[in-house]
Parts: sequence; structure tokens; C-alpha cells
Amino acid sequence: MTDLVDAPATVKPINHWISGVAYPGRSGRSGPVFNPATGAETGAVDFASVAEVDRAVQAAKQALPAWRALSLARRAELFFAIRELFHAKREEIAKHLTREHGKVLSDALGEVTRGLEVIEFCCGIPHLLKGGMSEQASTGVDVYSIRQPLGVVAGITPFNFPAMVPMWMWAPAIACGNTFVLKPSEKDPSASFYVAELLKEAGLPDGVFNVINGDKVAVDAILEHPDIAAVSFVGSTPIAKYVYETATANGKRCQALGGAKNHMIVLPDADIDMAADAAVSAAYGSAGERCMAVSLLVAVGDVADPLVEAIKQRIPNVKVGDGMEASSEMGPLITRAHRDKVASYIGADDGATVVVDGRDGCPADGFFLAPTLIDDVKPGMRAYEDEIFGPVLSVTRVATYDEAVRLVNENPYGNGTAIFTRDGGVARQFQFEVQAGMVGINVPIPVPVAYYSFGGWKASLFGDRHIYGPEGIDFYTRSKVVTSRWPDPATSKVDLGFPQTR
Ligand code: NAD
Repeated sequence: MTDLVDAPATVKPINHWISGVAYPGRSGRSGPVFNPATGAETGAVDFASVAEVDRAVQAAKQALPAWRALSLARRAELFFAIRELFHAKREEIAKHLTREHGKVLSDALGEVTRGLEVIEFCCGIPHLLKGGMSEQASTGVDVYSIRQPLGVVAGITPFNFPAMVPMWMWAPAIACGNTFVLKPSEKDPSASFYVAELLKEAGLPDGVFNVINGDKVAVDAILEHPDIAAVSFVGSTPIAKYVYETATANGKRCQALGGAKNHMIVLPDADIDMAADAAVSAAYGSAGERCMAVSLLVAVGDVADPLVEAIKQRIPNVKVGDGMEASSEMGPLITRAHRDKVASYIGADDGATVVVDGRDGCPADGFFLAPTLIDDVKPGMRAYEDEIFGPVLSVTRVATYDEAVRLVNENPYGNGTAIFTRDGGVARQFQFEVQAGMVGINVPIPVPVAYYSFGGWKASLFGDRHIYGPEGIDFYTRSKVVTSRWPDPATSKVDLGFPQTR
């Protein structure tokens, strides 16, 4: 059993998963896990020691030779089995998300579905790992490239997508023949443990997928471990930068996705109702705790007044409540401290106008904050500069399209952005000049489908490869080029010159 000090009887211990079995932590350290809808402490998650991280890495290392030798046909077959099982269990996975993250069940199901798309992409791994070949590159010589796995790789994930973001990592990583160590967010770790159980049930060999829970101690142990070849990270920008710098200083390949401040531009010719619906969905869905959430609405010209009015009309219709209740459309925030931090933006900026105050009329228990709308927000204000990561939508008024694009391009983040217009020419110009990794045209949350890759620019990504899709396959493999000649005594001779093609 886990060493839990003073844990209430109802609190569930959440262990590591090493070599295909639960591994109760022995470090003597653990962290509380809450149901954010009630505020109750429901779990205590083990925090790994350096030795426990090493144990998981050694399990992955031991599983590596057999796993990377498994034929592509068998790997694909296994991914089809994983896909079927995860699809059958999607509601169970979603319930884990709602219980610990708080997002409403329908949204949690959407998260699982988007994660499943990455697993489906990986079912095509034989095709994705095809190399290139040049026959007769020189006389009697063929040259071909092959893609091989890196070895043991690790993923470190944030609280806001406890199932989907790990799937962005472990699915392509293991499909490519690597073995994996996941360090999920300590705030909602149960989904990862459940996923580990499902992977075993689907037939994944022990040690190919391991979960190590914990805090900075576990993260640093991963970043410094000599047997880990690559690290994928998703989380806030300061930690992404730290992870990238530390991992690469330790000789690892690293992709580290950071935070965001996503702008949605609305031009005067846009359909106001469509733009208002999109803004409400994208700002308040999942209580704004999405890295692709719209945080800033840039209203161009005379669209501002009717747009703000249309959003204001819609906000009272958003049903805030426990995500397990079918009627709820928006759940709580992840912790009390985060809720309080988000609420501190309301009324904090002189000159900004609080149009709707989400502190009014919230459920009393749990970590709730209702949708909030702030108008007249300008660069330099707290609400403009910070990634709030909550249900707070700010409106910035500008006179021209050029001013709007300049705001997006001057922002230190470059994750997602969107434009709402009926003018195809302007939309095309926007796509051409905007500095962000993912662009929506009349689409507020442009998360790429699984056969493209996901990632931002500027302070939203450290590293040079986006995550999942073709760039994910690239990240988790390295290429080898083979130059081959089969014995032909007729062409054999000593030649001290540098090899040339003939
Ligand atoms: P976070 O950076 O606090 O935590 C992410 C991971 O890092 C967790 O596993 C955590 O345990 C670990 N960690 C936290 N502090 C650490 C430290 N000092 N040293 C080492 N490791 C540490 O992020 P979060 O609050 O869990 O998630 C929200 C953030 O993630 C937001 O900024 C959001 O924009 C970002 N995010 C980005 C994307 C993207 O694709 N760009 C996707 C989802 C979330």
C-alpha cells in the first residue's frame, strides 16, 4: 500500500505503473487530488523519488529490444486493438477526466475522441515509417533511408487534457518502436493510470508504457536521466522553456509546447451571430482551460458594440455546474488557488469595463467561476498581457485590420489565432502574414486533425518539431541511410579517393 500520511479514509491512493503493474510509491511523499466540482479531496497521488523514476526507465529499457523488433504488421494490429478498446471504454475514460479535471462529460468525451484520432493515425504506422530508396545510385550500388526509434522516451503533461495530450505523445512514440515513461499532471493523474490498465488489456507488452507520478523531483529525474533519449513536454511557457533547456543540455531531443494568448479577430463584415457563438464556445468551453481557448477578441471598427452585446446576451444561457450532470455546459476550474487567481483579473485594470462578472451567481461549493466578459482591454493591461487560463474573455477595440494583425504578431505567444470575416481575400492575407502556428478562418479553435501536426510559434513552442501527425513520427524516430553493394568481383579494386558516384 501507498505510504499516505494523515490521508482521510475516503481518499483513493493513485500509484505509479511500472512493468505492467501498479507500483505503490515508497518516497513518503504524495499530493492531494480534488473533485473540483465539490472541492472534496478524493485522491492522494504518489510523488516519485529519483530511484522510482529510474525504476520506470529501467522497465522501459528492458522492454525496448523486443518491442522495437516487433514487426510493423504486429504493431499495427495491436494499435487496432488499442483503438477498439479505447473506443469501447471512452465513457469510462471521460468520467476519470470529469471527476478530477472538472470539465463537463460531453467535453471530456470530445477530448477522448480527439485523442482517439491520434491512435487511429498510428494504426497506419507501417505506411508512416516507410523510407526512401535510390536504386543504382552508383553502378551496382543502392542507397536507402530507414527510420528507427530513439529508445526510451518520456512525456510530461499538463492538467488540462489529462487523456488527449498524453495520447499525442505515447501513441506515436510506441508506434514508432520506442518505449515510454509518462509523467502526467499531479492534479488529475487517474486517467493515465486507467490508460495504462487499458493498454495492458489490449495486449501491449509490460514495460512498453509506464507511468510515474510526481512533481519537480520526477521531472528533473527524467530530464537528467542518461537512458532517456527524448522528452516531449506540454505545459506553461516558463516550465516549457526550463524543460527544453535542461533536456537539451543533457543531450536529449526535446519538443516543449508552452502557453498561449489566442486572439480572435472579428472584421466588420463578419456574421455577428456566428462570431458571438464562436467566441462564447471558444472562450468558456472547458472553463477557458484550453491552450487553444480564445482569450482576446479583437473587434475591428463598428463591429464592437453589436458583438459585445451579442456575447453578453448569450452568457446567462451557459449552464455552469458539476460536469457529471448532463445539463451542465461549463464546469469548475482545476483548483481553488487557480480559480482565485483567475477571479483576480476581474476589475483589476483601470480603464477596462467589466461587462459580465463571473463571480456572481456561481455554485457555492467547488472551484467555480462563471463566464466573465471584460471590454476596452488594451495592451499593457494585466488582462491583455497574461495567459489567464480561465473563463475570462477580453475585448480589444481597434480601428483597422492592420492594427488587429499587428496585435497578434506583436504578442509573445503564437499558438492559435482566428479571423471571422466573409472576405476570402482578407482571410487569405491573414493566413499569409499572421505569426502563429495554427490559424482558424471562421473556426475559433483550429486544433489540427491527427494527420497534420499541432504546435505554436514563438513562446508557445521550444524545439523545432510540432507534436503528433507527421512531425510526431519525425520526432520519435531518427533516420539512417544505408549505402549497399552486393559482391561483384568484376568491379572490385583498391581506390583511395573519396567515394564518388559513377
Ligand atoms: P504546468 O507547466 O504547471 O505543468 C505541466 C507539467 O510540468 C506538469 O506535469 C507539472 O507537474 C510539471 N511542472 C510544473 N512545475 C514544474 C517545475 N517547476 N519544474 C518541473 N516540472 C514542473 O502547466 P499546467 O498548469 O498543468 O497546464 C496549463 C498550461 O499548459 C497552460 O499554460 C497551457 O497553455 C499549457 N498548455 C499548452 C498546450 C499546447 O499545446 N501548447 C496544451 C495544453 C496546455
